[in-house]
Amino acid sequence: MIEFSRYSKHSGTVQRKADKIPEYGHKKQELKGEETMRCLKKINAVRLEARVTQGEQINQLAKDKILKCSKDFGTTKTKKVEEIYKCDNTKSKSCKKGHETQKLTVSNKKRKFEDDLLNDDFEDEEMLILLKSRTRRRRMNNVMDVGQNPRKCHQCMKKERTFFVPCTKCPKMYCMRCVNKYYPDMSVEEIASSCPFCRKNCNCNACLCSKGMIKTANRDISDYEKAQYLQYMIKLLLPFFEQICHEQSQEEQIEAKLLGKSSFEIEIHQSLCGDGERVYCDHCATSIIDLHRSCPNCSYELCLSCCQEIRDGSITPRAELKFPYVNRGYDYMHGGDPLPVPCDLETSEGHIEPSTVWKAKSDGSISCAPKELGGCGSAVLELRCIFPDGWISDLETKACNMLKLWEIKHTTLQQKAASSSYTFLRKEAIKEGINDNNIYCPDSSSTKNEGLLLFQKHWANGEPIIVRDVLKQGTGLSWEPMVMWRALCENMVSEISSKMSEVKAIDCLANCEVEIDTHTFFKGYTEGRTYRDLWPEMLKLKDWPPSDKFEDLLPRHCDEFIRSLPFQEYSDPRTGILNLAVKLPAHVLKPDMGPKTYIAYGIKEELGRGDSVTKLHCDMSDAVNILTHTAEVILTDEQHFTISKLKEAHRAQNEREQCAQERVADHLEDRPYKDNKEHIENKEVLEAKSMKKQPIEIDGNIFPNNVLERYTSPATENESMETGSALWDIFQREDSEKLETYLRKHSKEFRHTYCSPVEQVVHPIHDQCFYLTWEHKKKLKEELGVEPWTFEQKLGEAVFIPAGCPHQVRNLKSCTKVAVDFVSPENIHECLRLTKEFRQLPKNHKAREDKLEIKKMIVYAVDQAVKDLKDLLKCS
Ligand SMILES: [Zn+2]
Ligand SMILES: [Zn+2]
Ligand SMILES: [Zn+2]
Ligand SMILES: [Zn+2]
Ligand SMILES: [Zn+2]
Repeated sequence: MIEFSRYSKHSGTVQRKADKIPEYGHKKQELKGEETMRCLKKINAVRLEARVTQGEQINQLAKDKILKCSKDFGTTKTKKVEEIYKCDNTKSKSCKKGHETQKLTVSNKKRKFEDDLLNDDFEDEEMLILLKSRTRRRRMNNVMDVGQNPRKCHQCMKKERTFFVPCTKCPKMYCMRCVNKYYPDMSVEEIASSCPFCRKNCNCNACLCSKGMIKTANRDISDYEKAQYLQYMIKLLLPFFEQICHEQSQEEQIEAKLLGKSSFEIEIHQSLCGDGERVYCDHCATSIIDLHRSCPNCSYELCLSCCQEIRDGSITPRAELKFPYVNRGYDYMHGGDPLPVPCDLETSEGHIEPSTVWKAKSDGSISCAPKELGGCGSAVLELRCIFPDGWISDLETKACNMLKLWEIKHTTLQQKAASSSYTFLRKEAIKEGINDNNIYCPDSSSTKNEGLLLFQKHWANGEPIIVRDVLKQGTGLSWEPMVMWRALCENMVSEISSKMSEVKAIDCLANCEVEIDTHTFFKGYTEGRTYRDLWPEMLKLKDWPPSDKFEDLLPRHCDEFIRSLPFQEYSDPRTGILNLAVKLPAHVLKPDMGPKTYIAYGIKEELGRGDSVTKLHCDMSDAVNILTHTAEVILTDEQHFTISKLKEAHRAQNEREQCAQERVADHLEDRPYKDNKEHIENKEVLEAKSMKKQPIEIDGNIFPNNVLERYTSPATENESMETGSALWDIFQREDSEKLETYLRKHSKEFRHTYCSPVEQVVHPIHDQCFYLTWEHKKKLKEELGVEPWTFEQKLGEAVFIPAGCPHQVRNLKSCTKVAVDFVSPENIHECLRLTKEFRQLPKNHKAREDKLEIKKMIVYAVDQAVKDLKDLLKCS
């Protein structure tokens, strides 16, 4: 308890320093006793080590030195000091006051909120001596060296610190304060043997803001492999590319007929489309890549799909949606009575259906959209192109020729590159029998030089993939949210840093945006927050740091993330050879593929309402998501009690509300399936699915899909076994339809914004307003035989989510995840399917915008791959 009194004695100092270092300032005051003890124990432990090695003699020696080190450094002393350095080479400290007998490991993860007072006060004298002796030696060897490197901490750039750890590999040194505060996982010895800068995981502001410090590619690809990949890509893309060409030539034929010419004779004018400009269809908001129709009068633009729909009479007016959720107040969200709601707001029928019909003329020509739909309604739309006339069809020919050339040349190439691991592995992959209902789950170390074919095999089936321990591939840069925050706050132009003091967060209970002081948010991340009734408050950051700028704002973290990515051929957002998203030429506006961070609170227990979740949705592109940091908040007994009480209240409220609405539905549900055939089908599916539960172990690579069991019964909810940090449910694409049926049927049992029941469903998955609790998952399995892949993502695990797979995530701890989107040639068909689905959504639907522009990507990827492959074939 001596330590405690020392702590409080210095609280004045803490406050003063806190002003200077805002992110740790408040923390310090609230530092829990336990944490303080830990900090102290570490310091003492280091000292003790020294004592153990050196015995009392050293202790005495240390005392002697304390008296003299400030001014006198006689030769004898220096010699003795060097001896210490050699024999305990740990640069450990001896303790003059510590009476602890306990020994702790040097790296103590929990010491996040380091108290600089402790360091300044407890740092011991040995350290200084050490440095001085070193400096002395240096001075003797190389005077210039000292001149160029005055004693200054590389991290905080301060010279006035007392104690430093010098690196033995470079002239840099780190002060003890920074060592303790920013490198809690590194021991003093480790830093001395190779400093964070030399290890390339330095998290000082300058390093965090520097680009290109590390090599991000974790594997070198031979030219032969490259050629193979490019050929593979062209082969997979060609059918889709041909489809695009086909659509275009159909429209050309219609145009030719209109003009009474042959399709070779018609001349199509190029639309003026500047670099960095996107052209969207004014009706369905899909990106236009080349041929389209345009109004000469009001420049209304229409895509070919819409033209087709107008001609066959299937075009639908894209209605605007009304916001269907009503705020019934705090009490209501916590299971209590609703506030009275103004009548005019209480409308659940949100559609405003424009009754206008838009038809083509009998000859197939189309007039501009009626005024109600945003056009001028008068002029006839003209055919326009964006690429130079004929460019796309030329490319089609080139691509086909390139594949032929490959057939001729690749056997010779193959002989040259006999040792290609790719070819070798192909055979291996075929041998491997994997139960395709389980998730392929390799370790990151095994994915670097092998395993891409196994990846492709599962990926092509539309399966998710988990890669363990990917942070191992990085340099060990800190993913502590505070480190990221510091990089943003202290090193950016004031305009940006001033914006960093507040963040926008989503309150998961109300699904509303809240503004919160950044520091308060992160305090809650590690310590938890509650509402006034003690119900856990789950917050998640919205777009922080601003996602489109992650690379600019946190370049070092961005590099570290990319370096940690497994299967970079696909996932690398800059150079992935099989990533279509990187094939867009410089002048084309790129979609925002990330990386993005997701920082959210989380607790183990499923609350059923206001959980920290990403609701069920599916993405247009593929994605990989790495869990980079977690913090566990332990609930008190009182909180557990409150939670169970409030859950009761929620249940009662649910029943009250559903009672009236669902009397009819319940009645139907009790009956066996009307359609006997459907029933049998479902039973079969169920049986097939239950086989999925067999854990199969092949070289430790297969993740048994049995996690769900742990969540299906509330009795096991509080088990204290070592678990992951984020609970994922990923559905097979094939199950999407059944999933949609289930959600439409049970929509009113779910709550969304303001905890209002979901009254309006446009698209059960794209609306993103459902999270299936374990109860619903159980019901879904019973009713329709649909079951997701369920697993827990652990720290350092990367989850690959194929485009088009509906998925949802619940955070079991506070989590920081970094994710990046990519577009693999295997999943193009899904991207196109989703683009079509999104076209049909109402005008103001949040999922509607065609951000990906997949057709444009296909065209440019074919173009680039043909060019690259040509070069490779030439030079070999
Ligand atoms: Zn420092
Ligand atoms: Zn160094
Ligand atoms: Zn640095
Ligand atoms: Zn359109
Ligand atoms: Zn017009």
